[in-house]
Amino acid sequence: MNILVTGGAGFIGSHLVERLLQHGHNVWTLDDMSTGNLHFLDEATENNRHSMIYGSVTDKYLLKELMEHCDVVFHLAAVLGVKNTVENPLKVIEGNIDGTRNILELAYHNKMKVVFASTSEIYGKNSQIPFGEDADRVLGAPSIHRWCYATAKAIDEHLCFAYAEKGLRVSVVRYFNAYGPRQTSSQYGGVVARFIKAALLNQPLEVYHDGSQIRCFTFIRDTVEGTLSAMGNHANGQAFNIGSEHAIAIRDLAHKIKDLTGSSSPIVYIPYATAYGPGYEDMPVRMPDLTRSRSILHYDPSVSLEEGLKMSIEWFKQQMKDEGM
Ligand code: UDP
Repeated sequence: MNILVTGGAGFIGSHLVERLLQHGHNVWTLDDMSTGNLHFLDEATENNRHSMIYGSVTDKYLLKELMEHCDVVFHLAAVLGVKNTVENPLKVIEGNIDGTRNILELAYHNKMKVVFASTSEIYGKNSQIPFGEDADRVLGAPSIHRWCYATAKAIDEHLCFAYAEKGLRVSVVRYFNAYGPRQTSSQYGGVVARFIKAALLNQPLEVYHDGSQIRCFTFIRDTVEGTLSAMGNHANGQAFNIGSEHAIAIRDLAHKIKDLTGSSSPIVYIPYATAYGPGYEDMPVRMPDLTRSRSILHYDPSVSLEEGLKMSIEWFKQQMKDEGM
């Protein structure tokens, strides 16, 4: 099949592109390179079934041309990261809604299949753990920027389901804390990448708050397999949790990464207000109910946290060596 991957030069996107090529598809990667990295596509670039297009999902003319030749689009291009959400709300809102509208509208006219990458953030502060896909969204006030990413992604999902009712073949995958090789360790990145990099440099591991907050980290290979399995038409018109059941508190994660790297880093505790600004609210627990994904997608996350962390650590070590660190 001919497949478009938006955000294909990013962390999750580039792994997805590689898997699609392995499955024998022709793949077009669309990325504006705002956070993507061309090196992530080194393997894909060697394949003559892969094409890289520099551009934005907000460029409707470019999208129109591209999508005319495709059967499926995986829409992963997004503006994300907690820091971005707090610091650049407009960029986050516009970046996550405008492009998705374009994709859905064009996919509808071209009768394509869409897999939309959403997030477990949309469940917000819901305290009924684990989250089934039909759980309520419990978010804070619109005046608090922290909630704009979750809100924008939820609007995107509303758009997906509105188009599904009109006949568009669309599935939504909600990611739960994906981690692994190629995740950014910058201040806009996820906690696993940040802790591994700090540990390898013997710098402090900064645990926000008291580190009691719990997440279910999902190794990138499982995240990608879950995304791929949503391509089939049996998944149309529904949302799926793509996560793991490896629940761990952030302070325990810090100790685990410190042990696995043999690092001498101190573990320090930082208030949310210092990390993200005043009034920041975090989710104390975020866990997926995987019943629907397991039964409909046959999604079966198989990489243990320990295995996944070890593979990630190896990648970061190599990366830092290549960068001369
Ligand atoms: N966190 C942390 N130190 C960091 C980055 C994040 O303690 O350097 C915490 C963050 O407050 C959250 C958890 O780790 O409770 C996961 O953060 P991440 O940004 O990876 O993903 P989120 O679950 O917030 O989407």
